[in-house]
Amino acid sequence: MENELKGLQVYKFGGASVKDAAAILNLCRIVRDFGPQGPLLIVVSAMGKTTNALEEIYDLAYHGRDYSAQLTALKNYHQLAHEALCHQLAKYAQRFGTEHSPIKIFDELSQKLTHILGSSNYDEGYDQIVSYGETISAHIVADALASFELSRTVFWQPASHVIQTNSTWREGRVDWKATEREVRDSANTLFDSSNTIVVTEGFIGGTADGRTTTLGREGSDYSAAIFAYCLRAESVTIWKDVPGLLNADPKIFPDTVRYPEISYQETIEMAYYGASVIHPKTLKPLADRQIPLRVKSFVDPAAEGTLIHDCQHPPLAPAFIRKTGQVLLSLESKDFAFISEENLEVIFGALAQARLKINVMQNSALSFSVCLDGEPTRLAQAVAALRTQFKVQYNEGLTLFTIKNYTPGSIAQLLAGRSVLLEQRTRSTFQVVVKE
Ligand code: ASP
Ligand code: MG
Repeated sequence: MENELKGLQVYKFGGASVKDAAAILNLCRIVRDFGPQGPLLIVVSAMGKTTNALEEIYDLAYHGRDYSAQLTALKNYHQLAHEALCHQLAKYAQRFGTEHSPIKIFDELSQKLTHILGSSNYDEGYDQIVSYGETISAHIVADALASFELSRTVFWQPASHVIQTNSTWREGRVDWKATEREVRDSANTLFDSSNTIVVTEGFIGGTADGRTTTLGREGSDYSAAIFAYCLRAESVTIWKDVPGLLNADPKIFPDTVRYPEISYQETIEMAYYGASVIHPKTLKPLADRQIPLRVKSFVDPAAEGTLIHDCQHPPLAPAFIRKTGQVLLSLESKDFAFISEENLEVIFGALAQARLKINVMQNSALSFSVCLDGEPTRLAQAVAALRTQFKVQYNEGLTLFTIKNYTPGSIAQLLAGRSVLLEQRTRSTFQVVVKE
């Protein structure tokens, strides 16, 4: 059967591209008009802002508070989309909506929520509830495609059965060997002809003993890469509401430019510095197997987009990357001692212990500064540990800007009217921490 997987393509549709009936119909048209002739695996995110809504519902349920209004609103939102699709798709086929009405899935979710109160592990319970967003959306999309794409067979594959992770709740670590085996086995069964489309959930994995995990917020891109890696896909396409990989977020910077072609290496670095267009874990599995990644617009699917692959290119336009919610932590030794290797060991130990992520660091003779993601509980833990040895000061609510491939002009443009708390540059990268 391996032959049926030859030339497999993976499409990933994020929340905005499945946010309502019109968006899902647009997805169906993209598959029909732009999709490959051969086998296609579609990875979908939860509809619109569903994951945020489920996080809120879960948190209320966990703390024994009333979540019924929020749950009803979320159910109605999915029902409405489903009914509109039934109406629209009636012209293609009668069978839409008979198998996977969201009502059944919401009943199951409601049932689960009633057992949440008092459950011991917050993060484990989170994965059991918040994963429903992707499950509902994958069902609805699979059903819509089955009705729309009359000439193709559509199957639904639960991701928790095949993407095997450990039990690091909310950030499951993939067991690549087991995942590759499971994904390949199931694909060999499902893709019984090259005419098949399989729809699965992004964001979700499962432990060996069958409990659902999630891969971290915005993790559906990563899911697409995991499937592509395991199935040695020909390519991955991420369909987004932007025309490709841009050098800056158009909501923040005017005059953005699109990179038509860019290397894995450059893209990995941009994602690392906080460019939000692609989940940072996505690139490595694709680069490992030399699988090209396309970023395309679901609003303008005929447009070129961006091709990310192994390539050489001339110097790129400077990329502006903004990371908000930063904390600048400054440490000084209490007795005017120099910052030494022994001190650094203590500092890194305390930060690692609190699972804080260092984004920039700088030291002078008597002080050491780090810019971190501002996670209040983790910060408090680290500060308490460090106060025993250092004078600790910190400044919250800051923004870290990174310019990759900077030019003098791009730095001047960024710094105009901003006051800088910390600045650093290497040969290719310029970083500043500012108060906005
Ligand atoms: N629905 C999840 C989230 O919003 C995963 C994703 O969209 O990639 O975080
Ligand atoms: Mg999302």
